[in-house]
Amino acid sequence: MIWDELEEGLAGLAAEGLLRRRRTLDAPCGPEAWVDGRRLLAFCSNDYLGLANHPTLVAAAREAAERWGVGSGASHVVSGHLRPHAELEERLAAFVGRDRALYFGAGYMANLAIVPTLVGRDDVIFADKLNHASLIDAAQLARAEHRRYPHNDMEALAHGLQRSSARRKLILSDAVFSMDGDLAPLPELFELAERFDAWLVIDDAHGFGVLGPSGRGSLAHFALPPSPRLILMGTLGKAAGGSGAFVAGDGRVIEWLAQRARSYIFTTASSPIMAAVLLASLVLIAEGDARRAHLQQLIAHLRTGLTGLPWRQLPSLTAIQPLLVGDNEAAVRLSERLLERGLWVPAIRPPTVPVGTARLRISLSSAHEITQLDALIAALRDCVDPAH
Ligand SMILES: *Cc1c(COP(=O)(O)O)cnc(C)c1O
Repeated sequence: MIWDELEEGLAGLAAEGLLRRRRTLDAPCGPEAWVDGRRLLAFCSNDYLGLANHPTLVAAAREAAERWGVGSGASHVVSGHLRPHAELEERLAAFVGRDRALYFGAGYMANLAIVPTLVGRDDVIFADKLNHASLIDAAQLARAEHRRYPHNDMEALAHGLQRSSARRKLILSDAVFSMDGDLAPLPELFELAERFDAWLVIDDAHGFGVLGPSGRGSLAHFALPPSPRLILMGTLGKAAGGSGAFVAGDGRVIEWLAQRARSYIFTTASSPIMAAVLLASLVLIAEGDARRAHLQQLIAHLRTGLTGLPWRQLPSLTAIQPLLVGDNEAAVRLSERLLERGLWVPAIRPPTVPVGTARLRISLSSAHEITQLDALIAALRDCVDPAH
């Protein structure tokens, strides 16, 4: 039967410790999560600035529902582009210092829009090996040759670009790598894009709101110039506390996307409520220096507190602080032992990360308090196997 294979597949995932289990939360996103009637201290979300349940944004949602209703009714190119969407795009473009921005319902959709719209058959995409899954899928959809260079290896990238005779080249990279927390060398990437006349697409899902002056993101952190060849994708479901994403860049590029990107055209515009929430969120991000300073303090405190444990810390200065365990089962077991102690830290396994690099992905939010980090550090020390 056609489903026999599915059953085998599911049994195989279970045997390898790769089954994913969803947990249902009974309270809003925050440092304290309510799951199965238990209160857990959570280090899982990407709500880096603690805005997902911020009263100002909740009020903006309520007011927007009264003013604009709940649905947009159509795609942006038909009749679903409401005033809050238009204003949000203008504010986003101004905030990141680019000509124009296009708002999407999700970062996944934004990445699927950018790559196939800029390159196709006969072209070459140069992509970091650790790029997010949505960038990998976007490259597949483009049907261009997809060359993946070793993580952050600029020599390998330069070599590949040099040898390529493709008419159009596109360099694709996360700015902050989502499972490692380290940064891409954006100035070097930009220099290579200039030298070899390539597009440079940067996914700043984890930098937007967190890095750079006023939280303007990774490009601002490195003070990259607003070149037409540089295309920025930022998500709004992480530090911004809502959902959706934007693509910002040169006016011609954005117009081309609005005209041609299938994942922009053939999908219903997201709720005007969310656009209004994000407008309010942009204000909080811009005024969020205290939140960002607190987050940096938490990161430093955690890194100091985790030294001397048997699991290797990755060289991350961002809110993503992985602890490398290696083995899938061991990572899951460690995560479960923390859970028994009331702490929720997800184990990340392949295929999300390379085989043999299963890890705990501790993610911090400015909503956390130092005492909560101390609880995590103490619990991890408690979990150290005496055999080590
Ligand atoms: C989360 C994420 C995305 C997808 O964004 P969504 O808005 O959640 O669809 C894309 N790229 C990276 C690097 C991400 O971490």
